[in-house]
Amino acid sequence: MDDRELIAAAREVAVNAYAPYSGFRVGAVVVDAGGGVHRGANVENSAYPSTVCAEAAAIAAAASEGARAIDTVAVACIDADEPGYPCGNCRQMMVEFGVRRVLVGTPDGGYVEHTLDELIPHGFKFAD
Ligand SMILES: [Zn+2]
Repeated sequence: MDDRELIAAAREVAVNAYAPYSGFRVGAVVVDAGGGVHRGANVENSAYPSTVCAEAAAIAAAASEGARAIDTVAVACIDADEPGYPCGNCRQMMVEFGVRRVLVGTPDGGYVEHTLDELIPHGFKFAD
C-alpha cells in the first residue's frame, strides 16, 4: 500500500469506530517492519478513561499478531474539519514500537507526513 492508500484505508476503518459520545470517528492503519498491515478504530466507553484510541487499537492488533517494530502509522478522523493528530498516549505507544513515520489525514482525503520525533521528541524508553 502506498501512503494515499494507507490514508484511504484509515478513513475506511474509521466507519467502524464506536464513538457514540464524541461523534469523533477515527481509523488507523499501521504497517509493521515486515510489511504487515493492521487496522484499528476508536472504541469509546461510558466510563471515558476506558476509551481506546484508533492508533492504540491498531498498535495492539499489530503486537497481538507478533509485530515488534512498526514503520508507519496512518491515522484519519472522518468527522473533523482539521487533521486529527494522535494524542500524547498514542505518541508514547509509537515510541515503544519505533515508529518512523506518521501520516495524519486531512479532511480532503490528503495527509500531512511527520516523523515520530517531530510529534514526540524525547519520548520515554528504557535504555536498550
Ligand atoms: Zn490516542
